[in-house]
Amino acid sequence: MDFKQFITVVPDFPKEGIRFKDITTLMENGEAYKKAIDEMANFAKEKDIDVVVGPEARGFVVGCPISYAMGIGFVPVRKEGKLPREVIGIDYGLEYGKDRLNMHKDSIKPGQKVLIADDLLATGGTIEATINMVEELGGVVAGIVFLIELTYLDGREKLKEYEVYSLMKY
Ligand code: IMP
Repeated sequence: MDFKQFITVVPDFPKEGIRFKDITTLMENGEAYKKAIDEMANFAKEKDIDVVVGPEARGFVVGCPISYAMGIGFVPVRKEGKLPREVIGIDYGLEYGKDRLNMHKDSIKPGQKVLIADDLLATGGTIEATINMVEELGGVVAGIVFLIELTYLDGREKLKEYEVYSLMKY
């Protein structure tokens, strides 16, 4: 399936000069959304994954249905101040801003094999921060999946020690 036909490229959002890849038009199409999730779950199938980890908010849109399809759990990565129990945290930079991410301290058990899922790889800052937290908790990152990779931002360089799969490249 040509998934790109379901992505809407929006110029100058959220800032001038950024060509935003809007995945909501893919999500609105049940067949395309299902096929996209199935392909991502298929990449992870042979990797003996214990749990899927995804950063808010669009990492949930991708990660939760993958975990459902695989019959395994999902662990959220959230912005500071959102998770109710004891957390670990890390500062990170993204394509347009800076922020701090958290995970519940007991969300990953040492040795668990983790699949990280997000909608889009830009600079790789979000996923690098997510990897650092997963590894701090003793998890093993066995694969990383994206709907979209912006190859011109070279985020893959930050993730070169890991197995990365993206459904669409721009
Ligand atoms: P990174 O940390 O620079 O790789 O940025 C990735 C994060 O920024 C992802 O979680 C995306 O949700 C968001 N993002 C950056 N650019 C876009 C875009 O063009 N469309 C949708 N999300 C984007």
